[in-house]
Amino acid sequence: MPRKSFVLTAPRALAEGLDIPAFRARLLDWFAASARDLPWRRSLDPYHVWLSEIMLQQTQMERGVAYFTRFIARFPDIAALDAASEDEVLKLWEGLGYYSRARNLRRAARVVMERHGGVFPRGLAEIRALPGVGPYTAGAIASVAFNAAVPAVDANVVRVLARVLDIDAPVSAPAVKRRIAAAAADLLDREHARAFNQALMELGALVCRPRKPECPACPIAGLCLGLARGTTQWRPVLKPGPEIIRINMACGVLAWDGRIYIQKRRNNDVWPGLWEFPGGVMESGEQPEETLVREYMEETGLAVAPGPAIGMLRSSYTRYRITLRGFFCAAAPGVDPVAEHRLNEADEARFVEPRELTRFAFPSGHARLVTKLLTDLRLSAFLAGERIG
Ligand code: SF4
Repeated sequence: MPRKSFVLTAPRALAEGLDIPAFRARLLDWFAASARDLPWRRSLDPYHVWLSEIMLQQTQMERGVAYFTRFIARFPDIAALDAASEDEVLKLWEGLGYYSRARNLRRAARVVMERHGGVFPRGLAEIRALPGVGPYTAGAIASVAFNAAVPAVDANVVRVLARVLDIDAPVSAPAVKRRIAAAAADLLDREHARAFNQALMELGALVCRPRKPECPACPIAGLCLGLARGTTQWRPVLKPGPEIIRINMACGVLAWDGRIYIQKRRNNDVWPGLWEFPGGVMESGEQPEETLVREYMEETGLAVAPGPAIGMLRSSYTRYRITLRGFFCAAAPGVDPVAEHRLNEADEARFVEPRELTRFAFPSGHARLVTKLLTDLRLSAFLAGERIG
């Protein structure tokens, strides 16, 4: 029996009666008058544009600019980034989260050096082939850096178009994604792709914000179906987010001969390549001190004795809300950590002086524990092996 096939055709923006020339003109005029002065907009250097696009994923603009400025000062071009060690790149990324982005930057720098002679590629396909570059990022780099006539649909653009077109279905649904992509392609001002794409993203960031869009100040208010129908507060339609999971963890700062033990997380683990103090998730009914004793034995083969608390740090990782309790700890009597430690769950371990800790990249909770540790008045006595309270 022949099988029926179904073809889902997405309505196009053109068919939805939007006045496209007016949309483009109003948006571009507004952008010319309201665009933020951002460092990568000044240079339009493809390396800068690429870096900004990767850094700004999941990151607020102010924070992104600060990280961008530090990164460019240290790695002024792709060759400098390619020559850097992973530890150095991760350290500059520390606190931004989603560390796979930083590792992909290094991989992509290598590709640019090897395949493109150190010159950032212009073609959409070549840009898309770089590690860590998805369809949106490729479109953004190609249009912003090279004025290529391709759309760039990020979360800001999705929100604006879901409101302008008054789309009443979840924007994560494949058919809706196609509809929004088609609308973005129809609306794109091909001669001014650089300005147009940035303008649409900027409108979403500054005016058509997730909560409380500023419709009275919006240049395309007269073209917005959502505003006309009074539905803006329900657009875009989002699926419920993932359930938040709370995790309690404990870790121990072990000193030996004036140095502190740290280990590097494995490449196939969460936070690969970052450094940490051994520890882990508290099991049901376990006290944090018991957790760190158990985890030290499992991860390093070392028997340790927990000491006083250093602090309790809270951090977030995707849908996880983590509470980390950090403790001073000492090797159990008769144990020599340098001679006896093993790498059961790490790629590398070191004994470092306290001031050296700031050279290594740690996951957020551990990084904040380092700050607390370095300002703890008991640190000198602890390093000297004295009893501390
Ligand atoms: S009128 Fe309001 S809802 Fe519509 S695009 Fe402008 S800010 Fe967004």
